[in-house]
Amino acid sequence: MTTPLFAEIRDEILASGPIGLDRYMGLCLGHPVHGYYRTRDPLGARGDFVTAPEISQMFGELIGIWIAATWAAMGAPADLAIVELGPGRGTLMQDALRALARAAPDLRPALHLVETSPTLRAEQAARLSAAAPTWHERIETLPQAPMIAVANEFFDALPVRQFQRAERGWFERLVGLGPDGSALAFGLAAEPDTRITATGPNGVLMTLPGAALDLARALARRVVAGGGAVLAIDYGHARPGFGDSLQAVREHRFVPPLAEPGAADLTTHVDFSALGRAATAEGARLHGPVDQRDFLLALGLRERAERLGRDATPAQRDAITAAATRLTDTSRRGMGSLFKAMAFADPALHALPALPASRP
Ligand code: SAH
Repeated sequence: MTTPLFAEIRDEILASGPIGLDRYMGLCLGHPVHGYYRTRDPLGARGDFVTAPEISQMFGELIGIWIAATWAAMGAPADLAIVELGPGRGTLMQDALRALARAAPDLRPALHLVETSPTLRAEQAARLSAAAPTWHERIETLPQAPMIAVANEFFDALPVRQFQRAERGWFERLVGLGPDGSALAFGLAAEPDTRITATGPNGVLMTLPGAALDLARALARRVVAGGGAVLAIDYGHARPGFGDSLQAVREHRFVPPLAEPGAADLTTHVDFSALGRAATAEGARLHGPVDQRDFLLALGLRERAERLGRDATPAQRDAITAAATRLTDTSRRGMGSLFKAMAFADPALHALPALPASRP
């Protein structure tokens, strides 16, 4: 399928040569007119994929409990900013704020949402207007205040570059045109990138999540200077690894990543170890990563499911149990161990709820 964005990318390649994967992902997801997140609400059963907060209200509620306990650990500052990066439909924050109002009735947080999609901003406004959120295009405009930031399935959408190892060094993986010019195709740069000093076996692919690391550094500097913590939940790996995790999803199915630019979601697995190293290099303290299963169970998922089940019909009770299982299932089909939770925080915070301190 050719898309309107395909024509633009083809013209760019014809004019100035193959583009990096970071440029490709940036255009596919964020192009002002044809970008995937600009043009649609991708979430839910009728969208392209389903996220944890859309599976069950319990997910956001437990995040609300986490925020309440983290705020208490910070010494309960009155001027707390709650920040969400990529809030999607606003479901997570709506559920979190409801739980937070019960767990920390004295807290009157200022809500800040970092979101580029006009479509999703409208969804967020519909669910969160009572909390009078302020929207931001980027984190630079966030207030200088103690903050608790939450990012669920956000870092995975940020552009990455990839490099392939060969005899002469690391060659960047580029997006160019196939033989007849009618489709996009992967290729490699003609010369190796001599700035990369990593070692790895020939043929192996390495992913450099530059945008995610820049963001982690900037957020880390903020919590080190102003207090607070950043919680990231995403699918990814706790140990650095080689291999290609770039994937495109449309209507709940995997599609080839170059086939439908702008019409499919594009993500890569989050490299939590690289993210953690970027944050600690700025002076932040690291907590986790742990499997999503352990994180949610430590926050009381079972108890919350039982509590909800008590007032429910048998059919609703089955749905609650199924949702809890899906969020914690550690088989390949579940989210329990594919997803990880990790926080980086002001080093004055020695312990955070449900996340063990990491060894430096
Ligand atoms: N957290 C939500 C949505 C995840 S989808 C959930 O769990 O359901 C990714 C979200 O990040 C969307 O809201 C998307 O619009 C937003 N997003 C993607 N790239 C972004 C960027 N560069 N800056 C700000 N928001 C971005």
